[in-house]
Amino acid sequence: MTTFADLGLDPKVLSAVTDAGYEKPTPIQAGAIPPALQGRDVLGIAQTGTGKTAGFVLPMITLLSKGRARARMPRSLVLAPTRELAAQVAENFDTYAKNTKLTKALLIGGVSFKEQDKLIDRGVDVLIATPGRLLDHFERGKLLLTGVQIMVVDEADRMLDMGFIPDIERIFELTPFTRQTLFFSATMAPEIERITSTFLSNPEKIEVARAATTSENIEQGVIMFKASRKDRQAKEKREVLRALIEQEGDACTNAIIFCNRKTEVDVVAKSLVKHGYNAAPIHGDLDQAQRMRTLDGFRDGSLRFLCASDVAARGLDVPSVSHVFNFDVPSHAEDYVHRIGRTGRAGRQGKTFMICVPHDEKYLTAIEALVKNEIPRVENPLGSAAPAPAPEAADEPKSEREKPAPRKRAPRKSAKQEPAAQEAPTPAPDRAPREPQGGQKNNNNNRRSGGGRRDDKVVGMGDHMPAFMTRSFKSPAVD
Ligand code: ADP
Ligand code: MG
Repeated sequence: MTTFADLGLDPKVLSAVTDAGYEKPTPIQAGAIPPALQGRDVLGIAQTGTGKTAGFVLPMITLLSKGRARARMPRSLVLAPTRELAAQVAENFDTYAKNTKLTKALLIGGVSFKEQDKLIDRGVDVLIATPGRLLDHFERGKLLLTGVQIMVVDEADRMLDMGFIPDIERIFELTPFTRQTLFFSATMAPEIERITSTFLSNPEKIEVARAATTSENIEQGVIMFKASRKDRQAKEKREVLRALIEQEGDACTNAIIFCNRKTEVDVVAKSLVKHGYNAAPIHGDLDQAQRMRTLDGFRDGSLRFLCASDVAARGLDVPSVSHVFNFDVPSHAEDYVHRIGRTGRAGRQGKTFMICVPHDEKYLTAIEALVKNEIPRVENPLGSAAPAPAPEAADEPKSEREKPAPRKRAPRKSAKQEPAAQEAPTPAPDRAPREPQGGQKNNNNNRRSGGGRRDDKVVGMGDHMPAFMTRSFKSPAVD
């Protein structure tokens, strides 16, 4: 059985890991850390919530412990698609690097350059950034990337799709050819994996589970729902959502409710509040301070329902989330894997329901093809109380017809455009990578608000399960 001590990590890192409550490395950690420490490039694929962050941060700290920071020349770089995720990785870094003298700067949009500039000027070992803000700093002449020895791209497949690829290519061009590069994700479409070869040299591929495998400890269900009339569809879906929440009762300590459109996120949140639920929205159009407060509230248990766009779909680690509801079927199949992966983290149990209307059945088919599993059909909790289906209404309101724009894959050679000095130039609606800066609290050893049940069976993380993951967690009193 592999232990952290077997992996070749710096003793200072080992003691931080022990303090974090980790007893055994997860399979992706056991697989990725040794080759990373040997200086190899790594392509790491493992399910959501299985500790990929420590899989790249721990070897990075160990490798950087020899040497020191120089002004304006960071020695390593971590890229993430959203501000919240970058902030979370930075918190993780602080936890794991607490016994070292290594320094970091978090470069994300929506906050002032001043503090960030100061840190860069002084010299930092690690930069954790969203691509747009990183390039902004570079273009202001404040930053040199020629000293980067280790480069990490988290949520790598997202970072290589059309919205980000020009920025990513530019950033890579600014780093030395000799750098070490680590890519991580839970999903990796074959056409994106082909693009990775542009950036990785002879990588060690660690694939704990086939890409896009959903975590086994997430119980999934889909409700096939046809509204009585198309112009009542959104309203009736909200009734189904409330019925699902009621059906789950106390087991639903807290939940993220994903919608495809920002307007729908707002409507669902408002409607839940109107019906007496403790809910709030988060998406890219909201004021940043509000978004931070909302996410913090969700993390500390004071907010029970987070209604979210895909800004919250990737990477965010709120260990206690008991449920994820897909109010809409995501139109990009990978997003399903990431959305539901906000629950069932670190070996805990999670539950997810999705509402699928006839129009979205093609997306459901695509999701099932991707995850190579049928999502169990579950009864509409409203049962016969649901309004009887009526013939197609001709007067479908516009908002019901709106479709998210398809996200195209970047053709490999087409990405030589001028880089946009922003966090990403051309996202589909509400997939804006220029996203809010969110919850800043670290969850690494945050086990106070875990939502797991006492006798949770832990599955999906390989044979050697850290005892920590099988321990019980007390749920916060919510509502
Ligand atoms: P991923 O990036 O794979 O989705 P994260 O890196 O966000 O997962 O980690 C998920 C959770 O698992 C975090 O709360 C983290 O603190 C916890 N975790 C990571 N490694 C271990 C470990 N070896 N033992 C126990 N918990 C761990
Ligand atoms: Mg992650």
